[in-house]
Amino acid sequence: MTRILDGITLWDGSAERGAVRLGWSGDRIEEVVPADDRHQGLAVIPGLIDTHVHLDTSVLDGAGAGDAWPLVTPDAEKAVHVVAHALRFASFGVTTMRDLAASPVQISVARAFEQGVVDGPRLLASGPVGMTAGHGDLFTPPRFRERPPVADSPDECRRLVRQWAREGATGIKIYTSGGILSMGDRVGWRNQTRAEIAATVDEAHALGMLVAAHAHTAEGIDIAMEEGADSLEHATGVVSRQVEALVARRIPVAPTLLINDLVAQGAHSVGPDARAKAREAIAGRDPAFREAAQAGVRFVLGTDANGRFVQHGGQLDELRAMKAVFGWSDERTLVAGTSDAADGLGLGNRLGRLDEGFAADFVVVRGRPWLDLAELTPERIVAVVSRGKVLSGRLPD
Ligand SMILES: [Zn+2]
Repeated sequence: MTRILDGITLWDGSAERGAVRLGWSGDRIEEVVPADDRHQGLAVIPGLIDTHVHLDTSVLDGAGAGDAWPLVTPDAEKAVHVVAHALRFASFGVTTMRDLAASPVQISVARAFEQGVVDGPRLLASGPVGMTAGHGDLFTPPRFRERPPVADSPDECRRLVRQWAREGATGIKIYTSGGILSMGDRVGWRNQTRAEIAATVDEAHALGMLVAAHAHTAEGIDIAMEEGADSLEHATGVVSRQVEALVARRIPVAPTLLINDLVAQGAHSVGPDARAKAREAIAGRDPAFREAAQAGVRFVLGTDANGRFVQHGGQLDELRAMKAVFGWSDERTLVAGTSDAADGLGLGNRLGRLDEGFAADFVVVRGRPWLDLAELTPERIVAVVSRGKVLSGRLPD
């Protein structure tokens, strides 16, 4: 059965197409043809794509257990929270999200969405491959003896990549520097050897998975680039000499602006150590990012949102922060949250654009956010459609 939105202004992921008749059947857009404007003031844009989220926290703020929640909560209960996070992010227009520290729980939820067990957004799940005492490992306090897996040699890296492939992960996450919210490390710590990173990237690519590299330092960015990572996460320490290669190789970079700002401000009673690390990490960030963006570095929407620091819907604020820091136009910024984010995930032939043959993921909004991002607010989101089904709100008659 074909569903129709007749006579609504459409922005297709790169340009305005005027008023169109938008028809879709199941998860496929069947037609985008010119039509008389019947829904003045409303518009359709592609669903937003957040390339960097984390869904393994409790959706109940202050639910107790603190940092240990992912460790002490049974997987069955965690899965319900992962579903709830995904649906809440989706209700603000995010129809695709990539979890960059997935466990088998996120992979299972992603599969359930894909199979239509539950109507939900597209969830991509990347399995982490990091070292003992690395950024990923140090989210788990040392006193816990049952810990998420780590890999401490090239062979162990290959094995862990293969285990993630067997679970059904769609990507791999690596770390080439220390981190901010990890407990007990320094941002400047090297994470893994070149040989370990090279083995992980080689194995992931052999098994058809993209590799996202957490890198805060210039050294970490060098390692990630030289060893063939497919995207950079954070990249707060990027320096001028790296810009040319980033542009030439079109490496997607997730800037995660708001979370680092929030941690630096001490939000959510973050400890003094994390706060100091964040302050140091972002000290020179904004001018470096602006230079990189103006030179053509491919920043895409990637927030690190987990519902606590960057909350559900924080993607809308992140886009506005990207526009301000990068000196971009409203439309260029929205490209980074739709079509270019899809391209960066290798899914640009199916997601991030609204045209015949693309997936039926879109948002009906009041306003023209490609002309004015200030109009992309929760109150102005009228309906969110994912895989052709209304996930939240109501389509106009
Ligand atoms: Zn992250």
